Amino acid sequence: MGGVTPSADLSYRAPITHMGAMIDPIAEQGAGALVLFSGGQDSTVCLAWALERYARVETVGFDYGQRHAVELEARAAVRARIAAEFPQWAPRLGEDHVLEMRGFGEVAQSALTADRAIEMTAKGLPSTFVPGRNLVFFVYAAALADRRGLRSLVGGMCETDFSGYPDCRRETLDAMQAALNLGMAQDFAIETPLMWLTKAETWSLAKGLGGEELVRLIVEDSHTCYLGERDVLHPWGRGCGSCPACELRIRGWDGWVAQDRPVLRP
Ligand code: ZN
Repeated sequence: MGGVTPSADLSYRAPITHMGAMIDPIAEQGAGALVLFSGGQDSTVCLAWALERYARVETVGFDYGQRHAVELEARAAVRARIAAEFPQWAPRLGEDHVLEMRGFGEVAQSALTADRAIEMTAKGLPSTFVPGRNLVFFVYAAALADRRGLRSLVGGMCETDFSGYPDCRRETLDAMQAALNLGMAQDFAIETPLMWLTKAETWSLAKGLGGEELVRLIVEDSHTCYLGERDVLHPWGRGCGSCPACELRIRGWDGWVAQDRPVLRP
């Protein structure tokens, strides 16, 4: 096997070859993590979880033609604030990657990428469901992680509470992990620290990871609202307050506050 041809749309610092002499010593350890990071509440908690656990953590975001550039802007704001306010994590926070996937967005049009109302479809899925989105994300993330020498792929997928997205199920991700490892001759671990947590427990985990400081960061800087609303700061964060994403976030926040803001240690 010869050198690896760099792909045009995967950015990385230096070429890493599998069998060649130019193996990156950090890559060889294979101990770092790549966090699928959208700038939302869940992926921000996942980023903190990974920073607590791994010496090297990089982030990847996907531009698949979201209606709101707001989501991608939130990513930069969250990363900058983590670097500024969490000195224990700052040295571990590595590069950010944004992969352009507008072609996929065109194929998989839904309410998130096209001007369609957010409603339930005949299959019982919300029209915000983008078929195969997480599967595609993981293929791209794994290819990037291979180049970057990162073993853990961390995602904020969750089966608890309502989403009903079939590609958020652990069973799907177990199959994805097996496919990636077979198909890329790798040893990736897809880690989903929020899989069995309620939205209220996700706030508890945030507090357990980074105290009220991290909770405040998530409230002020992470983005969830499907409509891209950022102007008003509510106790639970910024958003319209009535789209399904805001409703879920509000329910989780209210539940957590009603329990007197408990702490969940990672
Ligand atoms: Zn909203």
